[in-house]
Amino acid sequence: MMERLELHGTHISPGVGVGVVFVALTPTKRRIPLRRIDADDAQRSWRLLEDARMAALASLEAIQETTAKELGLQDAAIYGAQAAVLQDPEALKNLRTWVLEELMAPESAIQALLDKFGKLFENLEGGDRKSWVADLRDPWNTVLLELSEGDVKAAQSGGDESLILVAEELTPTLVVSYPREKVAAIVCSRGGRYSHGAVLARSFGIPTVTGLEGVDERARSGQQCVVYGDSGMVVLNATVAEQEAALTLSAERAHVRGVLAAAAREAGHTADGVEIKVRVNIESPRDLDMFDLQTVNGVGLFRTEFAYMERPFFPSVEEQREIYSSVLERFPGKTVVFRTLDVGGDKPLRYLHTPEEGNPALGWRGLRLSLKWQDLFLMQLQALRDCRHHGKVNIMLPMVTNVEEVRQAKSLLRAIAGKEELGVRFGVMIEVPAAAMALPDLVKEVDFVSVGTNDLTQYLFAVDRDNPWVSDLYQPYHPANLRVLRYIAKVCLDAGIPATVCGEMAGQPAGAFFLAGVGYGGLSMSPLFVPEIKALLREVRMDSLRQAATRAARSSTSKEALDILEAETSQAWQKVVERVGSHKT
Ligand code: PEP
Ligand code: MG
Repeated sequence: MMERLELHGTHISPGVGVGVVFVALTPTKRRIPLRRIDADDAQRSWRLLEDARMAALASLEAIQETTAKELGLQDAAIYGAQAAVLQDPEALKNLRTWVLEELMAPESAIQALLDKFGKLFENLEGGDRKSWVADLRDPWNTVLLELSEGDVKAAQSGGDESLILVAEELTPTLVVSYPREKVAAIVCSRGGRYSHGAVLARSFGIPTVTGLEGVDERARSGQQCVVYGDSGMVVLNATVAEQEAALTLSAERAHVRGVLAAAAREAGHTADGVEIKVRVNIESPRDLDMFDLQTVNGVGLFRTEFAYMERPFFPSVEEQREIYSSVLERFPGKTVVFRTLDVGGDKPLRYLHTPEEGNPALGWRGLRLSLKWQDLFLMQLQALRDCRHHGKVNIMLPMVTNVEEVRQAKSLLRAIAGKEELGVRFGVMIEVPAAAMALPDLVKEVDFVSVGTNDLTQYLFAVDRDNPWVSDLYQPYHPANLRVLRYIAKVCLDAGIPATVCGEMAGQPAGAFFLAGVGYGGLSMSPLFVPEIKALLREVRMDSLRQAATRAARSSTSKEALDILEAETSQAWQKVVERVGSHKT
């Protein structure tokens, strides 16, 4: 029996999770770290690697056959060569030794092999070296993908136990790949509070903790585990008493949530009746089954890229039409904002090969990609256009940098049909500081504006939202950020354009108070936070929000600003708690 181990990390998504550890394999663009396995797991691990290799070989053979039929034997030969790479006896001998004798996890053994290929050609110069290494690596990358798919199947096929996913990095792929109903919590070595993985974990309501260096190497599948998403505490090999206490706490939280959820159908407003439209951020129509749709004014952010990420290939226009209209139909008469494809950076599409970029966050992502790859963009616009009879279609562009991009996107939209005829509303996300400063020009082009504070903060402070080494500089409540947010609200108010926020700040009590206080009329957040934010807003008057927001934006540090805002939120929370208490009887 292994010893109890208490760890303290970064709290990412609230809630309590109790279950058994499942050490998950998440291929990232980075090097796979060296993970060791137990000796009694070696045979099983070797079988996993072999199964993945066989699956990769089978898929290569299938592609080879199709290519031979369609393009001829010569073009198909490349796949034969790739299959040969996977059968190289020397490589197999190495892998066997590394897994069975040196007890490396299968994915770490493949990484060791990839490193070896890199070294072999290290001393050669020029383009050939790169392409030889790529020829040797590519087939093994396919094996890695197969391994991770096998991993997901293993998680799905286990018993009824709730799983605590433990992984190296909190990636969006990790959060979306494993069966949501089985995942009680996620624990990772790395992953910033505002990374896309974190955003998703919160939106799925999965208690999550990161910042536990090496946890994926220390934890073992099958260990009992308790995760406290609010404090960042994780207990491996938790005692039975600890598991029971955690389950009790989880039930108490469910009670509070239940009371708040019951009151959440009331329209969002402040204590003195100023309306704040509360909408949800979703990634899939599935999300709509997880909360009461009557509690929100529609969808403020549909991250459409996840429909692309979940599939083996680009969704067709028909598939997209079906997905989009199924969301619209659930919100008759209410706004649904479809954000166009926002891939790139840390949201890769595995079937879309983008160039290796030194700075992916500053690179080819979001609208930039759509404008370069217009066929893809036009297909999405077409699908959205076709859905306009199903509800209120709002099209929103991500990662806008300048007004020319917006005009270009609009002319593509017009190429499909004139705007009036289309009957869709058109808006932009403000995520890039230059776009915030160009807002007086941008508002002339659009029907609405929504601020993506997750990216805006990253770009304003020049701090990668995924990079733990600089995460202390990622400060959404820094007065510099607050002043930009206030400026955006003012420009929109002056222009008579609705301004909303769909970044994580909108679902945080301090953020919601600030944003309402500077004039944002709409907040879009994970459904999980809707009842609490609505309950808090109902307890505070607009003049208090305005004053607190003004003082926060005038302060000189994040701490000062947060102290001011949190003084308001805790007062409001006290009142909420009193009301919930009165429901206990
Ligand atoms: C944002 O950047 O704030 C945002 C809502 O978009 P995403 O988190 O999907 O990048
Ligand atoms: Mg963004």
